[in-house]
Amino acid sequence: MAKRRMKKLSPLHLRIVDALRKHPKGLHIGDIRRLAVKRGDRQQHLDKRVRELSPYFVIDRPVRGRYTIYKYIRRRKPGEWNAEGVSNKLRSHVIHMAHGKCQMCGRTVAEDGIRLHVDHRIPQRWGGTSDVENLWAICSSCNEGKKDYFSSLPDNMMVRLASTASVHQRLAKLLNLKAGKWVSSDFLRSIANLTETQDDWQRRLREIRPFVRRLEKLKVHEEKRVTTHYRFPKRIRLPKNLAELVKRREKRRRMKAE
Ligand SMILES: [Zn+2]
Repeated sequence: MAKRRMKKLSPLHLRIVDALRKHPKGLHIGDIRRLAVKRGDRQQHLDKRVRELSPYFVIDRPVRGRYTIYKYIRRRKPGEWNAEGVSNKLRSHVIHMAHGKCQMCGRTVAEDGIRLHVDHRIPQRWGGTSDVENLWAICSSCNEGKKDYFSSLPDNMMVRLASTASVHQRLAKLLNLKAGKWVSSDFLRSIANLTETQDDWQRRLREIRPFVRRLEKLKVHEEKRVTTHYRFPKRIRLPKNLAELVKRREKRRRMKAE
């Protein structure tokens, strides 16, 4: 079984594994390029090639400074990885807990005819586990959209966002990363919901406004619906304690209101 699965890996994949195994302290993508990519082979998506190893090997991705380090841990046991890594029992539990409602967009099975899928909030290839805390039930279109958005981010950024506990900080980081470009509300919603359900993520976004120089908003009228986009016109220096600043400000506001 393990052998059959291995066949999907190309010589490049095997050279990457070889390089990682020989360097137990880990390598960054530049090292991997130097060690595993043959000269003249322009591999523009080397991080994707490394990601494709996930069904076969456990590869850790700690972030050191500005770089993601790839660290070989071990080969996976047969059957350890399946497409979702979720048992039927856990799957029905997660679906049951959603009460027929997409946990991302709120549309329902009964009224909107959606289908629910069990999805990893933080994808497995970025270190997300199949524990119940990292699973939720979302509809097909949220699922597809989320995949597209997430694959537009480089590995190290995704890992950094996934390890950012504060929803305010995550939203601000994404806007900063895409500074100058419009970011759709669906994308922001996916990032807000990365580590826990955030029903009121727009409010979280409004709360960061006083601490970021400018947060611009754009409404786009499409055929059937209006979509909202946001952007930072320029990259800014984000306060490290953004979550704390927001909390203090909200507390002051509440006290004034009372
Ligand atoms: Zn949905």
